[in-house]
Amino acid sequence: MDWRGKRVLVTGAGKGIGRATAVMLARRGTKVVAMTRSKEDLKTLAAEIDCEPVCADVADSDALRPAVLSALPVDMLVNCAGTTVLSSFIDTDPEEFDRVFAVNTKAPVIIGQIVVRDWLRRGVVGAIVNVSSDAARRAVADHTAYCASKAALDAITRVMALELGPSGIRVNSVNPTVTMTPMGVLAWSDPAKADPVKARIPLGRFLDPDEIAEAILFLLSDEASMINGVSLAVDGGLAIT
Ligand code: NDP
Repeated sequence: MDWRGKRVLVTGAGKGIGRATAVMLARRGTKVVAMTRSKEDLKTLAAEIDCEPVCADVADSDALRPAVLSALPVDMLVNCAGTTVLSSFIDTDPEEFDRVFAVNTKAPVIIGQIVVRDWLRRGVVGAIVNVSSDAARRAVADHTAYCASKAALDAITRVMALELGPSGIRVNSVNPTVTMTPMGVLAWSDPAKADPVKARIPLGRFLDPDEIAEAILFLLSDEASMINGVSLAVDGGLAIT
C-alpha cells in the first residue's frame, strides 16, 4: 500500500490506540487529521507528527458535526475515540450508560454519515475501521454499558458494510482485548482481575497499542480489498478459548 497522499481522520488520536494509529499512519506517509478532546494531547501529537488537529468532544453531537465537516475531505476514517464506566449491572447509572453510548456508538454513526455522504458525492471509494472491543462478544463484569456499546458498534459496522459495499466502500471493526493504554490501566490494573484473563489468552499477554494499529492499517489498506464487514479479533487467541 502506498499511503502517500491519503488523508485519514482518526478520532481519539490523543492517547492510547488512536494515538499509536495516528503516529503509524503519519510515519507511512499519510496526512492525519487528528480529532480528540484534550488540547494538550493535540499539542504534543502535533510536535511528534505532521497532523491537522481538530479539537472536539465527539459526545456533543451539535459540536461534532461542524468539527467533522472541517476535517473534510478525507480518504479514510478510523473511529477510535472511546470511553468506559466501571460499575456493576445493578449500579449502572442510566446517564452514564447514555454517555458511554454517545461516545462509543452514536459518534461513529454521526461521523460515518458525514464522511460517507461526502464520499458518495465525490465518488470516493473509502474505507472505515471502527475500533470495537472483545467486550462486544464477551460478558465482562462491571462493563454493562461498555459491552453493549461495542456490540452495537459491531452491528452497525455490519450494516454499513452491507449498505456501502455496492459503492466500493469497506467498513470493518477491530476487536482488541486488554491494552495498557490510559483506559486499560483504569480497568485492568488489579492483578486479581487481570491475571485470570491473561491466563486464558493463548499468547499469554495483553496488547501493545502498535499491534492494534497494524491491524487497523491493514484493514484500511488496498491489501484488504475484499475484507468487508468483519470484526477482527486482535486478542492473542482469547476469542477461541
Ligand atoms: P484511551 O482512554 O487511552 O484513549 C482514548 C482517546 O479517546 C483519548 O485521546 C480521549 O481523549 C479520546 N476521547 C475519549 N472520549 C472522547 C470524546 N468524548 N471526544 C473526543 N475524544 C474522546 O483509550 P484506548 O486507547 O485504550 O481506547 C481506544 C479505543 O480502543 C476505544 O474505543 C476503546 O473502547 C477501545 N479498546 C480499548 C481497549 C483497552 O484495553 N485499552 C480494549 C479494547 C478496545 P481524552 O483523554 O481527552 O478524553
